[in-house]
Amino acid sequence: MSKNECINEIKITFPSYSTNEGTARAMVSAFCATLNPTVEELSDIRCAVSEAVTNCTVHAYKNVIGTVSLAVRLYADRTVRIEVKDKGCGIADVEEALQPLFTTDPEGERSGMGFTVMESFMDTVSVKSSVGRGTKVTMKRRLSPLPVKR
Ligand code: ATP
Ligand code: MG
Repeated sequence: MSKNECINEIKITFPSYSTNEGTARAMVSAFCATLNPTVEELSDIRCAVSEAVTNCTVHAYKNVIGTVSLAVRLYADRTVRIEVKDKGCGIADVEEALQPLFTTDPEGERSGMGFTVMESFMDTVSVKSSVGRGTKVTMKRRLSPLPVKR
């Protein structure tokens, strides 16, 4: 088996109701648990997913309900790849959006730390966006090797 072979994959789509954030988080967590991650790794991945999906609800589809697509792939080298996609409003300046404390909703309860949280909990985060067409956030995290059984 090649090192980077995809060994399992799951895809779900759901409406951007805020209640679906918890479901998405639990689903990703249950799926990744099949690789026996540490509690900390699982918690980090859950937080990152939570931030990405919440952004779809509060920013991409502000005042409307749209579709969120979530795809998780597990690779033979224990890399977890998570893609969160929306067809919402898009981001005009991705570089600016990635800055810590940058938010377009300072009046609300937002702190502008979502992308920073994703970047700190995952190995890589890539954001592709087009105004009026939507946003795709792709995150990867390589899990630590399993302890050797004696
Ligand atoms: P916090 O996540 O701390 O509650 P926040 O959501 O504003 O605050 P980030 O998650 O870092 O902070 O996002 C920064 C900005 O990027 C947002 O304020 C918003 O303008 C934009 N943004 C993020 N995700 C999306 C998205 N999926 N669609 C459209 N705009 C987005
Ligand atoms: Mg956010």
